[in-house]
Amino acid sequence: MNYRAIKGTKDILPSESSRWQFVEQTIRDVFHRFNYKEIRTPIFETTALFARSIGELTDIVGKEMYTFQDRSGDSVTLRPEETASVMRSYIQNNLGEAQPLVKVYYIGPMFRQERPQAGRLRQFHQFGAEATGSPTAETDAEIIALAIEIYRRLGITDYSLKINSVGDEECRPRYKEILRNELLKIAEKLSPESQRRIEQNPMRVLDSKDERDLELTAAMPLIVDYLNEECAAHFEKVKSLLTAYGIPFTVDGRLVRGLDYYTKTAFEITSTELGSQDALAGGGRYDLLVKELGGRSTPSVGFAAGMERLMMILEKKQFQAPQQNPKIFLACADESAREWVLRTTMHLRSNGISAECDLLSRSLKAQMKEADRQNAKYVIVVGSKELANGKVLLKDLSNHTHQEVQLDTLQELIQ
Ligand code: AMP
Repeated sequence: MNYRAIKGTKDILPSESSRWQFVEQTIRDVFHRFNYKEIRTPIFETTALFARSIGELTDIVGKEMYTFQDRSGDSVTLRPEETASVMRSYIQNNLGEAQPLVKVYYIGPMFRQERPQAGRLRQFHQFGAEATGSPTAETDAEIIALAIEIYRRLGITDYSLKINSVGDEECRPRYKEILRNELLKIAEKLSPESQRRIEQNPMRVLDSKDERDLELTAAMPLIVDYLNEECAAHFEKVKSLLTAYGIPFTVDGRLVRGLDYYTKTAFEITSTELGSQDALAGGGRYDLLVKELGGRSTPSVGFAAGMERLMMILEKKQFQAPQQNPKIFLACADESAREWVLRTTMHLRSNGISAECDLLSRSLKAQMKEADRQNAKYVIVVGSKELANGKVLLKDLSNHTHQEVQLDTLQELIQ
């Protein structure tokens, strides 16, 4: 074969798509119950939007974006995440004018040029939500509860929720300075990557993937102990609401997340069902982003979650989505019935019944085999005799029973 899907991309095949659709529908349903409305933003945006909002120093902007010049010479980027796009749209369309709190969700493909491995793709799918316009801890707790509810609805129980507060523009710089000074004392023992981060993003050193870095930084000061009064009260309120909602969590003082615009609450949901890529979802508050992008200062909180990782867990659990098989297969016994079969198939479809018939002029035997293969619930065989009598044998393939029925009552009987 000459062409193959690009490395790190995957087809969602017809045999898998009913599961995807079911899961997406469940996710939408939970979003709607929480009164979040869907937003669909373009798959590509100007490169500067992502560079500005995600941060030049992050891995995403530094090495993972699919960025190219279009034919007019403009630099565009396939979206690596959707928060930036949603905030761009919020500002551009004045969404905050109509209501003080705007609650939106999205589901769609994202693109990052990462090294592909199990659970890590270059085109992957995320669902997520953003609540923009509220600074309250109640909103953070709702966003976390919303993400958790999606996993709960899908029967996923082996997840853990970690939360932290990353402070704000007042207390974080103070903490960063203290941390930087501590890190400088052990700088030469740290991994090269962590050494590089000390100056620009010292908090990221604490969530290094390097075991030795983690040992060396085990006793480092954590931001939770340096929060100002407002951030500390906010964090306490989020925790007490999660407890009130019956959502277990642990506080992880090293959780910082890769993106620059987070303030106060940060959270991550992981699962032991996944391998090394164990993050199911991440999110938090980002009160500085809208202003950063040129809008009026607007507090906001949200999360993003990976679809493929969710699907991996469901697959492991042998989760069965409701099948999308035809309700009835109309087999044609002889040429004289062909037009009736085609017409009736169309008629049933118009009336909300999924119906199938043969389009390949196959023998009756082959048609019956096809009905089986398609897992149709019912099958009828129609020929000149059936048309003359106005009656047909309705076979129920699911329980191997049959009954003689009037052709004109067929639709009611299988409804
Ligand atoms: P992030 O936007 O990096 O916080 O990612 C949020 C979630 O998206 C992660 O917890 C993963 O579940 C998922 N995710 C991120 N990157 C990838 C990827 N390259 N392939 C598959 N899923 C991903």
